[in-house]
Order: sequence, then C-alpha cells, then structure tokens
Amino acid sequence: AISIRGLRKDYGPLEVLRGVDLDVAPGETVCVIGRSGSGKSTLLKCLNLLEEPTAGEILLGGTPITGPGVDADRVRVRVGMVFQHFNLFGHMTVLGNVTAALRHVRRMDRRSAEATAMAQLERLGLAGFASQRPHRLSGGQQQRVAIARALAMEPEVMLFDEATSALDPELVKDVLDVMGALASSGMTMVAVTHEIGFAREVADRVVFMDEGRVAESGPARATLENPATERLRDFLARVL
Ligand code: ATP
Ligand code: MG
Repeated sequence: AISIRGLRKDYGPLEVLRGVDLDVAPGETVCVIGRSGSGKSTLLKCLNLLEEPTAGEILLGGTPITGPGVDADRVRVRVGMVFQHFNLFGHMTVLGNVTAALRHVRRMDRRSAEATAMAQLERLGLAGFASQRPHRLSGGQQQRVAIARALAMEPEVMLFDEATSALDPELVKDVLDVMGALASSGMTMVAVTHEIGFAREVADRVVFMDEGRVAESGPARATLENPATERLRDFLARVL
C-alpha cells in the first residue's frame, strides 16, 4: 500500500507538485493521466526517491520513506520502476541486465541471481534472448526485459512511466498485455499512461493530475466515461 500526504516538489522557483494526496491499496492498479507538465513523472520519481520531495509524507506499507534516515536503496528494492525508454544497460546481455541489481543490491550469489532472472525471463517469454545484447531485441522485447528486471527484485509496488509511449504501434499491445497480467496477478501498480483504453479496462482507479495536484480521482470506467470536472472533460476530448 502507498499513502501520499501533502506531497510537494519544487525545482527552484517552479512548483511542480503542489500538494498531492493519494492512497493506493494493496493489489490496486491506479492509472495516472494528465497533460504534459502536470507532474506525473515527478510524482513517480518521488515514490521511488529518484527525486527528493520538498515537503509532505509518503508511506510504503505503513512505513515512512520520506524524512531523515531513510535508506533510498532499500526503498528502491521495494518499488520497481519501468521507464519510457527502457534504460537497459547496453553493454550487458539481457541476463546481465536482470541479474545486476540482484547481485549488487540484493547481494545474491551469481547462481541464485541467474536462476531468479531466468525464471522472470521465462515468465515473460524472453528466455531465448538471455545471452543477447538488448539492441538486438525489438522495442517491445526490450521493454519486457525492463519489466522482468524490475520484477526480479520482488518489489511490493511497480511504477510505470509511459512504458509504451516509445514503442511502434504494433508492439504496444505486447507490453500492455504484460502489464494487464501483472495487474490481475495482484501487484500494486501505479501507471502513468496515455493509453486511455488500457486505463479503462485494467485500472481500478484513474487519477487525473492537473497543475501539480490530483484534480479528479475515481473508479476507472465511471471517471473516464463521465468526468466530474471540466478540466478532465477537456483533456479526454483532446486525447480520445
Ligand atoms: P509529460 O506528460 O510530458 O511526461 P509530466 O506530467 O510527466 O509530463 P513532469 O516530467 O513531472 O511532467 O514535469 C513537470 C514539470 O517539472 C515540467 O514543467 C518540467 O519541465 C519540470 N521538471 C521536471 N523535471 C525537472 C528537473 N529535473 N529540473 C527542473 N524542472 C523539471
Ligand atoms: Mg512524464
């Protein structure tokens, strides 16, 4: 479970997050939508401490991850993140990508790390690519490797930041299917996405960010089909 209270993030004079309150229940999938610049990526980065919040509180499984004395590496083990541009290590094999954090952060020995990694690659239909370099794979395959790498750490929560935005249209479905299966499996997920259809079908809840705040939040289908605010209605009219 995630609990966010009064989260603020400034970059110098720019107030990007201006008081975000959000709860994500265990097993819940929340899709975050909103205009470019509304603070969606910044919100996810605060959740795994890639950015340090300016103010406010974030609890993960009831434990504060903001404030003094927090070990950011330990938080990042608990919160997996998948980015738009995969961010795979180009000089390592697919297997090397998935084992790196297992060995260096989780301190697993080589044999256990490789067994864990292969199990994840098999689950995502990628076992045959284990010894290849990422650039030999399609964008959709690379993104599935990035997902396997995050899942191998056995995170409590998975964050996705426009995980399909950089993919060719015919590869988008593969990755959305993996995300949908993960959501059904009971993973707690926060996914920033422009795929409104995916949000409607897969998310439990949709959160609409506007100018650094949660402007609207509710059950996915009802919120998307019948928005309460003018701002969300405008946004949906533009993206649909
Ligand atoms: P998009 O849909 O385009 O990805 P977003 O909702 O994810 O947009 P953010 O990336 O969170 O938006 O950015 C929100 C605002 O914060 C933008 O105005 C952006 O320029 C600014 N910003 C983001 N990161 C930084 C940074 N490291 N330093 C300064 N400003 C930043
Ligand atoms: Mg973004």
